[in-house]
Order: sequence, then C-alpha cells, then structure tokens
Amino acid sequence: MVGAGPAGLVAALDLARRRVDVRLIEQSASPSTGSRAKGIQPRTLEVFEALGVVEEVSRSGGPFPRWRTYRAGRPAREKSIYDMLGIGQPVAGPAVPYPETWMIPQWRTEEILRDALRHLGVRVEYGSALVALTDEGTEVTATIRRDGEQERLRSSYVVAADGAASTVRRILGVAFDGVTRDDERYLTADVRATGLDRSCWHNWSRPDDAAARVSVCPLPETDTFQFVAPLPPGQETPALVLATVQRLFDERSGGAPVTFDEVCWITVHRANERLADRYRVGRVFLVGDAAHAVPAAGGQGLNTAVQDSYNLGWKLAAVLAGAPEDLLDSYEEERRPLAARLMRGLGTADDRGEVPDIFQLRNNYRGRRLSAETRRDPGGVQAGDRAPDAPLSLPDGSRPRLFEFLRGADVTVLAFGDEAAEGGHAVAGRHGSSAVLRILDVRTESPATVDAVQEIYDVASGQEVLFLVRPDGHVGLAAEDHFAERLAEHLPRLTAGGLART
Ligand SMILES: Cc1cc2nc3c(=O)[nH]c(=O)nc-3n(C[C@H](O)[C@H](O)[C@H](O)COP(=O)(O)OP(=O)(O)OC[C@H]3O[C@@H](n4cnc5c(N)ncnc54)[C@H](O)[C@@H]3O)c2cc1C
Repeated sequence: MVGAGPAGLVAALDLARRRVDVRLIEQSASPSTGSRAKGIQPRTLEVFEALGVVEEVSRSGGPFPRWRTYRAGRPAREKSIYDMLGIGQPVAGPAVPYPETWMIPQWRTEEILRDALRHLGVRVEYGSALVALTDEGTEVTATIRRDGEQERLRSSYVVAADGAASTVRRILGVAFDGVTRDDERYLTADVRATGLDRSCWHNWSRPDDAAARVSVCPLPETDTFQFVAPLPPGQETPALVLATVQRLFDERSGGAPVTFDEVCWITVHRANERLADRYRVGRVFLVGDAAHAVPAAGGQGLNTAVQDSYNLGWKLAAVLAGAPEDLLDSYEEERRPLAARLMRGLGTADDRGEVPDIFQLRNNYRGRRLSAETRRDPGGVQAGDRAPDAPLSLPDGSRPRLFEFLRGADVTVLAFGDEAAEGGHAVAGRHGSSAVLRILDVRTESPATVDAVQEIYDVASGQEVLFLVRPDGHVGLAAEDHFAERLAEHLPRLTAGGLART
C-alpha cells in the first residue's frame, strides 16, 4: 500500500485481517493532523463495523450539529444539515444501523484505523516515499526512498493510495482528466477559540457579498473548531497564520466577539474534479483520491476512498488464495462508474437513471459481471445491492444482527425456503476447504424474526429465494430456482475453488 490516508489504511486493514502479508509506506514523516473530511457516511460506518473500529469511531465523534446562520451579527436561522440538503432527518431502522452522517475529524479516523492495524502487527512506515515502480508481470518492484537510502521492494500487487497528486498514477501514465478550479480556493484550519459556543455550526457572510463567508464548526470530542473561508479569486494566498484567521473572521462576521487563540493545522486547497481513466494497470490498483478527486459537496471524498479499498481488499485476498485473476477486473468496473457519477454532481442522474446517494447506502453494482440477478421479477433487494442489515433470532437463543452474523464468514448464503437452503447445503458439502461459507436458513433458524427479514429483503412469505452475500456485504447472486447449480456456478468466480461451511 502506498500512502497512509484513509484509503491506504482501510486497504491494509482489510487485507491484514484476511491474513495477507502487507506493507504500508507513507512519505510523510508523521501522521497528518488536520480535520479535513469530517463526515463519515452511513455505509462507511457499516464498513467500519466490519473492520472492528465502529465503536471507537462512535465514541470519538458525534452527530452533525445544526447549521446556524447570522445576520447583522445575530443568529438568523438554524436548521439541520439534512434539511439543508433537502433530504429530511434520517431514521434508524433494523435495515440501517447507522442512519446519520457521523462527524469525526479525519486525523482521528486515521488514528483509529492505525491502531487497529497495529493490533494486527502492521505499522505504517513513515518517511518512506515510493519513487519508482516496475510491473514485471508476475510481481511488482517498487523503489522506496527512506533517509536518503533506497530499498527495492518486491510484491505481488501494489495498491496506490497516494492521493490526488499520485506518484504511482504519474509513473503508470494514467490520465487524470477534469478540472482544477484555481478560482475556487478555501482556507481551512483547526483552531481553538474563545467566545463561541459548541452547540452548532456557525456561519457568517458579509451583507454586501455573500461569497465572503466564514464557517466555524465544533469538532466533537475535541476542544477545536474547523474554520473554513473561501478566498477571493485572483488574490494572493494569505499567510497561513493565526492573524489571517482572525482577520478573515472579523471582516466577514461583522465584528462578532470571537477570539481565535491557536491554529493547530491550516491549509489552502483548491476545488479539484478529476477522474483516472483506468483504476487498474496490470498488478497496480488506484484507490481513493489517487483514482478520483470528487467535488467537495456532500462529503464524499473520504467515504468513496474507503469504499474503493473495501471493494478491492477481499478480491486481492481471494486471488492471492487462488481465485481467478479476472476477479480483480471487477474492481474498476464496479467502482469507477460511481466516482464518474459524483463528478456530474449530487443531483445528476447517470445513464441508469440513478443519482448519487450521499449516505452511499444505495450505491450498487447491478448489472456488473459479479452480480447475477437470475429472478424473473426481482424484488427491492437485487444482485449488486448492499445487503441490508436485519434482526435475527438463532436457535441457540442469541439475537445477533445480520451484519454480526456476516462477520463470521467470507461468503454467506441467505436462504428463504427449504429448497433454497438445501441448494446451499448441497454446494457447501461438495467442496473442500478454503474460504468460509456460512448458510442461514432464514425461516427455520430465525423464526421469531422471519417476517422482519422477509420484509427487509422483499421476499414474500412462502417464496423460495436465495441470496449470496459477498465478503464486502453486497449481494452477488439472487436466485429463485436451480439453487445448487447457480451457487456452484457463481462461487468459483469469487473464491479459491473450495468452500468450507462453518
Ligand atoms: C481541506 C480539506 C477538506 C476536505 N473535506 C472533506 C470533506 O468534508 N468530506 C470528504 O469526504 N472529503 C474531504 N476532503 C477530501 C478527503 O480528505 C480525501 O478525499 C481523503 O483524504 C482521501 O483519502 P486518500 O487516502 O485517498 O488520500 P490522502 O488522504 O490524500 O492520502 C494519501 C497519502 O499518500 C501519501 N503519499 C503521497 N505520495 C506518496 C508516495 N510517493 N509514497 C508514499 N506515500 C505517498 C500522502 O502523504 C498521503 O498521506 C477534504 C480534503 C481537504 C484537503
């Protein structure tokens, strides 16, 4: 893994927990300290649950505060971010365990991921920059510069998580077309302040110039605020110091009595909208900002980075264990269209008529090579979709959520009906051992909650249906007949030939 931002950390963590030997190099001398992407979307929280870090992320963050605007120095309006986005307050339900966007500074998210990785014996190698790369067909040789010395590191694959200015992408010659908006620049800083309450996200603008805005948001579980001010086009970048923060604030807030005491981190960044024309070149994969710089609106950058790595991780692990190599081609096929859609804006539909879901729960891989929807009249949950959560009640008396059940296996069959369950068992029994397949016979093993599971999965009472859930929690196969045959045909595309039932 090249780069220890969110994309590199998630890729390394997912591979390490699948017992793949990884190294994670990072050119900076130490961890980054900025709040940057502070919104973790519901689907990312589900991935964090699977990776075992969601409790720590929950403890270290909080819900988005209400957005307060001021006029003539006084509070004028206050509303939730969901009202601002026009999507209404999200409601928790059995299918969606984390309905809200969670606020946590990016430095803290990265710290939590690093800690989890350290528990698996992997440490970020700081001060180590990739400077050259050669794909030799059967392996990749990376040249790493550290303390003036060079190391040649050979590996089976390289995951380039080295950000928007990716060195790996440049070495590979992959185009990164799009725009960098030099006229759209933001000064962002983490600050300590006196005179500001922490109950809401404060927003001022000059009455004569709505573009002269300043926004100050309390960062949960810290004593800092994230300060953001757009910079006027054409002007020189100001000095990145405390006095600049105070000046911008005083000019734009109409003299609100707030004093900034300390700057902990400060940067100026430009709006960047670019997409790599390939996500895979031989044994090298681009993930996160190295593959796409998405528009800032809607807080999708970090989240899309995490989802990329989570899509790729299990595929690399499976191929290293013997699954067919072309499984890796599905990474670009599944992930690039979602980033391409974000480039067109949050309100713009793609050629399938789907608009981006800022929560990323409806992002799906329908119609892609790994999604086998074989029913004549598919229901609401289809092959390619995220498999929703559901309440279970197992024969041993336990009442896990489906997501907890999924964590016990690589691949899970959800069988609705005797024939579907028999089909699953027949295939599981036929194979040797490699990846772990688990079968849940929903109607017999979870009778107390069967109605809820059927409703969530849009399966009628008495209907025979089988869903195969992939290691990343998406439905791979949905079938209503020929269960054993369809499973036997589908499983070898995802796994190293054999499966053992737990
Ligand atoms: C000010 C700011 C505010 C933002 N706000 C939001 C937001 O509100 N919501 C949102 O979703 N996103 C936001 N983003 C974007 C978000 O931070 C990124 O999308 C996210 O960090 C992408 O993660 P990544 O791991 O792909 O890349 P990065 O976080 O950029 O990590 C790449 C890493 O690779 C390292 N690296 C680079 N080259 C090499 C090399 N040759 N060798 C070794 N290491 C290398 C870098 O040092 C870096 O640590 C913001 C970004 C900025 C700058």
